[in-house]
Amino acid sequence: MEKYKHIESAMIHGGIYGDKVTGAVNTPIYQTSTYEQKGLGENSGWEYSRTGNPTRAALEALIAELEGGTAGFAFGSGMAAITAVLSLFRSGDKVIISSNVYGGTFRVLDKVFSNFGLKYIIVDTSDLDNLESNITDDVRAILIESPANPLLTITDIAAVSVIAKKHGILSIVDNTFMTPYLQRPIELGADIVIHSATKYLGGHSDLVAGLVVVKDRSLADRIAFIQNATGGVLGPFDSFLLIRGIKTLGVRLDRHVENAEAAANFLQNHKAVKKVYYPGLQDAQGYEVNRRQAKNGGAMISFELYENYDIRKFFKSLRLIALAESLGGVESLVCHPASMTHASIPKEIRDKVGITEGLIRLSIGIENIDDLLADLDQAIAESEM
Ligand SMILES: *Cc1c(COP(=O)(O)O)cnc(C)c1O
Repeated sequence: MEKYKHIESAMIHGGIYGDKVTGAVNTPIYQTSTYEQKGLGENSGWEYSRTGNPTRAALEALIAELEGGTAGFAFGSGMAAITAVLSLFRSGDKVIISSNVYGGTFRVLDKVFSNFGLKYIIVDTSDLDNLESNITDDVRAILIESPANPLLTITDIAAVSVIAKKHGILSIVDNTFMTPYLQRPIELGADIVIHSATKYLGGHSDLVAGLVVVKDRSLADRIAFIQNATGGVLGPFDSFLLIRGIKTLGVRLDRHVENAEAAANFLQNHKAVKKVYYPGLQDAQGYEVNRRQAKNGGAMISFELYENYDIRKFFKSLRLIALAESLGGVESLVCHPASMTHASIPKEIRDKVGITEGLIRLSIGIENIDDLLADLDQAIAESEM
């Protein structure tokens, strides 16, 4: 009989469990840069910690198992993970990215990879015909987020994977907002999954990390080469913290989502609220597609207040919910995408894709829901003009 069948157990027992030498139930922090070799060409399988480290390897095996891929790779940040994946391409190639993609993903393509001749095009990937009509001969990959930041736009991952396969190009999914507990893109046909593990996987706003999981062996060999050659690896201590975070991912997310569903309903029924963006609401864009491909709507909500509410005042009046970049930690956070997370996207593009000045994004934490709703309610009341 297999040891377990369900992802809740895999999050705790998956990858490389414990320490074979001592029986310790946690993989030790192998805080070492190098490994003594017995003789020339005789090593223990470990040579140098940029190439491989046992603590990082335990994390990499764990995320590969959770996402259902052949191999996982851990990086010093989500952006380092994205940079490694984009390093698969060469001058003259083009990557399609979803409108509403993470601001840093846009920035690294627009300001860094463009210097090396890698091209990109922003496409509304929730519209599949529109997506396919943008696939020219130079396109090598489609990079999507679903839900995409900050309007929580849903893209059909299975359909995008079919289109990519038909054109012989890669499908890449940034799964940061969902995690493998809620959505597994490789099972839906994607080739590569990326995470900013800084968010839900770490879960406690105490580390910055990135992960990549690939579906097949040839891609695994290429990413392993890039990881070692470019060197943006995650250190042993942060690898340990991330393994520790993932153990409680299931119970944390259950509570995050329960709170988010309640907050979305509360906002939708509030007289001050003009529009709520939450994939778990029945009238949300992509509700049916999301229901098919994900367990639920996740725990990120965006909303707009009517014009007679002062959003600066709203942000200032919140007492429990902190104004901060980032998301996915146990504490609730709020941000203003237009001036914070998406400020690196030019205003014309922001306006075009719907990231308005009045948009507010919430990362719903695991506090008591009554405290969260009371804080939102009083801050909205304070902001009325
Ligand atoms: C935060 C984030 C990133 C970047 O990750 P870092 O860990 O901050 O480098 C990439 N994609 C998404 C969707 C994110 O939320």
